[in-house]
Amino acid sequence: MEFRDLKAQYIKYKTQIDSGIQEVLDNTNFIGGKEIKSLEQRLAEYVGVKHCITCANGTEAMTLIMMAWDIKEGDAVFVPDFTFFSTGEIVSFSGATPIFVDVDRDTFNIDTVKLDRAINKVLEEGKLTPKVIIPVDLFGLPADHIEIERIAKKYNLKVLEDGAQGFGGSINGKKACSFGDAATTSFFPAKPLGCYGDGGAIFTDDDELTELLNSLKVHGKGDNKYDNVRIGVNSRLDSIQAAILNVKLTAFINHELEDVNRIYNVYTEKLKDVVETPVIPKGYISSFAQYTIKLKNKEERDGLQAKLKEDGIPSMIYYVKPMHRQGAFDEHYYNDSDFKVTNELCDTVLSLPMHPYLRNQDVERVFNSIKKFK
Ligand SMILES: *Cc1c(COP(=O)(O)O)cnc(C)c1O
Repeated sequence: MEFRDLKAQYIKYKTQIDSGIQEVLDNTNFIGGKEIKSLEQRLAEYVGVKHCITCANGTEAMTLIMMAWDIKEGDAVFVPDFTFFSTGEIVSFSGATPIFVDVDRDTFNIDTVKLDRAINKVLEEGKLTPKVIIPVDLFGLPADHIEIERIAKKYNLKVLEDGAQGFGGSINGKKACSFGDAATTSFFPAKPLGCYGDGGAIFTDDDELTELLNSLKVHGKGDNKYDNVRIGVNSRLDSIQAAILNVKLTAFINHELEDVNRIYNVYTEKLKDVVETPVIPKGYISSFAQYTIKLKNKEERDGLQAKLKEDGIPSMIYYVKPMHRQGAFDEHYYNDSDFKVTNELCDTVLSLPMHPYLRNQDVERVFNSIKKFK
């Protein structure tokens, strides 16, 4: 059993993927080929925003936004404490200070009450200027974007939705990657929509921001890439990756998103009386980048992981360490007791195999192994 079965997906779509790649080879348009335009149009349409700008990966997608919004030293950017390193990394990379905020125990996403408190604290201290909130759609579940939007308005902050794991999710029909002033996603192979290498995209309704991002991602180009009007970076998606994504986006829309939600139901039906299963609030749809359960304590979690391994079942711990304890952020002072929930989650969460090609008998095997352990 695979934790995320990329091979089963490739086998199912091999003919189309291979011919998509071959077409790029035949045309030798490796950068900026027609595959890019059509992918950007289809992604924007699916998500329900005006613009999609593809780029090199999900981290650069966020960095490009920080550049476009001129986020720099002296600025405070609010980030959940329970996320992949990248969400805080790009803040420090811009020179600004990441202010970590504890998360909600049920949804794993940023705690909006503590967010409001954190913004107030920065204002009271008067050392940094609050500028941006970066909510993360962790494990495929959209953050509470309705409340986040309200808080952002109240304090006049921008919102960047980190939808690296969230692509395909929604709140009352409004799709992930359409929230905030801009949103980003990642096409890293294991994400809900992955390519065969690195890739990323930015989504926004903002025409001016789009023009700026299209310049920043190609060396700050003006009329062309040899006319440079600002300092930018080189951050493009390859045509080959776009060709692969064009096939995989169709599969994602046609059945994959439904399939992971069907498997979520099968898992949860079996596991709900045995362990704490994922909580999906009413009106929310998750794209299940992960199916994450909670155990009583670290001993039980580590014990279960060892038992699963013994039974040949892969599992992962996302995440072992809260952001505020990462050595890279050592220069900032964080009070460990402000992060009670994240600290607890890092000791008790366990992600089980989850992907659209998981079979009912696989779920049965995972269930039996957990049942025996408990
Ligand atoms: C994967 C991930 C990223 C970074 O995406 P890359 O394409 O790997 O750079 C950012 N944020 C979160 C929450 C992620 O899971």
